[in-house]
Amino acid sequence: MPDAGPLRGTGVSPGSGYGPVRRMVGTVPEPPPGARHDSDAAAETAAAFAALARVAESLEDLAGRAADDVGRDVLVAQALMARDPELAAGVAARVAAGLAAPRAVWEAFGVHRDALAAADAYLAARVADLDDVRDRAVALLLDVPLPGVPVADEPFVLVARDLAPADTALLDPAVVVAFVTEDGGPTSHTAILARALGVPAVVAVRGATDLPDGTPVLVDGAAGTVRPGPSPAEVRAARVRDRTSRRAAPDPALPGGTRDGRRVPLLANIGGPAGVRADLDAARAHGAEGVGLLRTEFLFLDRAEAPGHDEQVAAYTEVFAAFPEGDVIVRVLDAGADKRLAFLPPPAPEPNPALGERGLRMLRRHPDILTAQLAALAAAAAGRPVGVMAPMVTGADEAAGFAALCRDAGLARPGAMIEVPAAALRARDLARAVEFFSVGTNDLAQYACAADRQSGALARLHDPWQPALLDLVALAAGAGVPCGVCGEGAADPILACVLVGLGVASLSMAPPSIPAVREELAGHTLDRCRAAAAAARAARTAPAARAAARAVLARRDRPV
Ligand code: PEP
Ligand code: MG
Repeated sequence: MPDAGPLRGTGVSPGSGYGPVRRMVGTVPEPPPGARHDSDAAAETAAAFAALARVAESLEDLAGRAADDVGRDVLVAQALMARDPELAAGVAARVAAGLAAPRAVWEAFGVHRDALAAADAYLAARVADLDDVRDRAVALLLDVPLPGVPVADEPFVLVARDLAPADTALLDPAVVVAFVTEDGGPTSHTAILARALGVPAVVAVRGATDLPDGTPVLVDGAAGTVRPGPSPAEVRAARVRDRTSRRAAPDPALPGGTRDGRRVPLLANIGGPAGVRADLDAARAHGAEGVGLLRTEFLFLDRAEAPGHDEQVAAYTEVFAAFPEGDVIVRVLDAGADKRLAFLPPPAPEPNPALGERGLRMLRRHPDILTAQLAALAAAAAGRPVGVMAPMVTGADEAAGFAALCRDAGLARPGAMIEVPAAALRARDLARAVEFFSVGTNDLAQYACAADRQSGALARLHDPWQPALLDLVALAAGAGVPCGVCGEGAADPILACVLVGLGVASLSMAPPSIPAVREELAGHTLDRCRAAAAAARAARTAPAARAAARAVLARRDRPV
């Protein structure tokens, strides 16, 4: 058979992963209405009960392995649903009336589903959990793959259309050796998760979900390739490359900075899909000097209402305590668009959620949620000058309003994320209102290039090397207040040098990316970083900007 070559996409997390494909199954088919069994009702009921028991056992097993409390509680509740005697009675009654087991399960769950959906907001939020239990039982009965992330003891390559936060809550990085998605760009949830876990990943791979389960593939997260059926020599060569690059990792104790001593604190992004504790552990292991972005959404996910004061204080205190010395910057709740929260839906259906009510816009609509969060942050900070920034700030008036609320709450270091081109263009006005900026290159690329960050087909437009994006960063970095970058762009070692050359004062990223950024930055003087930045901005396309910066940074400066 001729070698069709590898599938190609965008590499978003370096390293290689080899293993059999396991596809994430999106939906389980509804058993046809009226499907009947062949008259052995006792055997049919036994099959249905056995499926429900297996589902309960597997959920209990997963709960025992869940990394965080919220995930564990959801799983325990789901296992109880599968063991619900009323539900079992409903299944048995339907089988006795002639329905086949899968259909009987579907319909019995349907009764509970309707009751939940009609109840209060908290119970309504459980409908998805109930559907998940139903789908698991029906999948077992129909002998089709289980929905969600596959559960396996053997290492595998996870192939999915895209990964959502709920899909990945239980993901075990010890068995998932690589991610491959058909959708998603370099700033998608999958990419952020992969970098946080240090799992190689390639996104926007056309045809990935057509790979049959079990196909052995070699994923190269740097080159952005997925090779089905690689030769043993290719797998060996990839492993050697991985080992060599691990050996080159620099001393994690060194603070970030250029060759000639310009300090550039290298900070960690915390609160991503891997979970806060895992992120904090990884941050310390990789030598983070503080936290440049605490994504507080983790506290608000899967809730019927906002977490209370004490719960928020405890969560923030844990993060502050993990970095008693370095800088810590917290982002207030960024709800909406790609970060939908059950209890904070958009006020009306939005044709373009990314352009709708999200981030600070959503908080302005719910000022009680913002003031409660600021009060909890102030209590946890206990006088420490933590930075508190707002997402999706558009204009100076919004920045000033947010800063006033922070100061009223006793938080003296308000900041603004620069994610909207309007904010970058008028950065000087915003700088009068706040103490610092942090550029979110993920959203800034999305809005600068008018390309939904969830669209894999537009991955090339999310490239943080877009010269237009570099121009916007330069405006923010030159506006007179310290400006960091906390988007995924900061994790690219070459781009990190360019950002520093543009005037960026600190870089925050998924912890596993810190060592490579530290090492690259330490090899160049500030002047060389500036020269690389100028060369990149003089280019007309993202690939040309990258090539131009690479050329300038190809040589290392000697120690000065
Ligand atoms: C960004 O937009 O670059 C950013 C850091 O925020 P998030 O990815 O959480 O939207
Ligand atoms: Mg953002």
